[in-house]
Amino acid sequence: MSVDAPSRRRSRQVRVGRILVGGDAPVMVQSMTNTDTADAEGTAQQVLDLARAGSEVVRVTVNTVEAAQAIPEIRSRLDAAGCDVPLVGDFHFNGHRLLTQVPECARVLDKYRINPGNVGKGSKRDEQFATMIEFACRFDKPVRIGVNWGSLDQEVLARLMDENARSAAPRDAAQVTRDALVTSALESAAQAESLGLPGDRIVLSAKVSGVQDLIRVYRDLAARCDYPLHLGLTEAGMGSKGIVASTAALAVLLQEGIGDTIRVSLTPEPGGDRTREVVVAQEILQTMGLRSFVPMVIACPGCGRTTSTVFQSLAARIQDYLRTQMPQWREHYPGVADMNVAVMGCVVNGPGESKHANIGISLPGTGESPVAPVFVDGLKTVTLKGEHIAEEFQAIVENYVRTRYGAPDPQSSAVAVGG
Ligand code: SF4
Repeated sequence: MSVDAPSRRRSRQVRVGRILVGGDAPVMVQSMTNTDTADAEGTAQQVLDLARAGSEVVRVTVNTVEAAQAIPEIRSRLDAAGCDVPLVGDFHFNGHRLLTQVPECARVLDKYRINPGNVGKGSKRDEQFATMIEFACRFDKPVRIGVNWGSLDQEVLARLMDENARSAAPRDAAQVTRDALVTSALESAAQAESLGLPGDRIVLSAKVSGVQDLIRVYRDLAARCDYPLHLGLTEAGMGSKGIVASTAALAVLLQEGIGDTIRVSLTPEPGGDRTREVVVAQEILQTMGLRSFVPMVIACPGCGRTTSTVFQSLAARIQDYLRTQMPQWREHYPGVADMNVAVMGCVVNGPGESKHANIGISLPGTGESPVAPVFVDGLKTVTLKGEHIAEEFQAIVENYVRTRYGAPDPQSSAVAVGG
């Protein structure tokens, strides 16, 4: 972690399965499946993919009896695959019934997400909310009270709108709506505590789809409670828009020390890879210096000095290679996630940037001699040329990881680099 990383605001700490959220725990990455949960095999596979990509908690929809009944099988399949990622059940409308009808689902899940706007109406609301909290107490499970702009509790909103209308200095409707989001989360948390759920079993979220609204809502929420907060821009959208909007919102809040867990809610392209949201969430945290997940590749954008795509394909190849290796490297080479690898397109910034990285290569630009100097820990160690620059550079990276981050070789104290 960078020494200049933003300091975190302290909050209570909640345990979700084997993961700690809040307090001094690192900001946790979570994701959500988009399979039909009743399809236990397909859902278990996607959970596995998300967990292998780095999701530390995975949420699944629990919307029908069949989905609730599938939860124990999903857990068994994950356990059989050696995956202990905590599973969160996402309940709306009928959560009280599903937990009652399928108590095994309630027992197996590691956390319940309850949306106070979708628990029920009128007198049924409190009763149904209480049923869900009773299950959380019985099985000692944490709960995320997750309020959402699109399903805001209309009774809370109407009450605050009425109070505002009677006020001597009424606020605008958008402000009252933001206040209603925060109020709904806080009142539901207080209600859960009054029903016996300990305060250190509660996480809050209040998601909206606008960047500025999200920032305002979370600043307010963070100022008014010390529950751990789950951050996410809801309905962030597709492609670069979803990534940019999520990053813009989350970065501001994380920089202020607000947020204990994050999810990037990207809409995948048809047939697209669901694990993209995990990679983006990790990249937000890593580029901010909050956590390290995978060695970073620093690559120049290229310009008129690069007439071939050699350096682009080398940067992509190295990035893929590093990500693919990480599951094994994480176990054998502690600290490797902090490594930086520079892949640069020409002599203008190539040697300089390469010297700042753990390992860097400066490829030849147009008109330059067709050689590629390699720098290791700031020193030029070898100059590559010919057809196999990519393979040779990858071997240098691999050797560096082994010698720098592996257990010391008792036969030799020398650190071998170069290739
Ligand atoms: S390092 Fe060279 S190729 Fe890359 S952007 Fe700068 S000038 Fe262009």
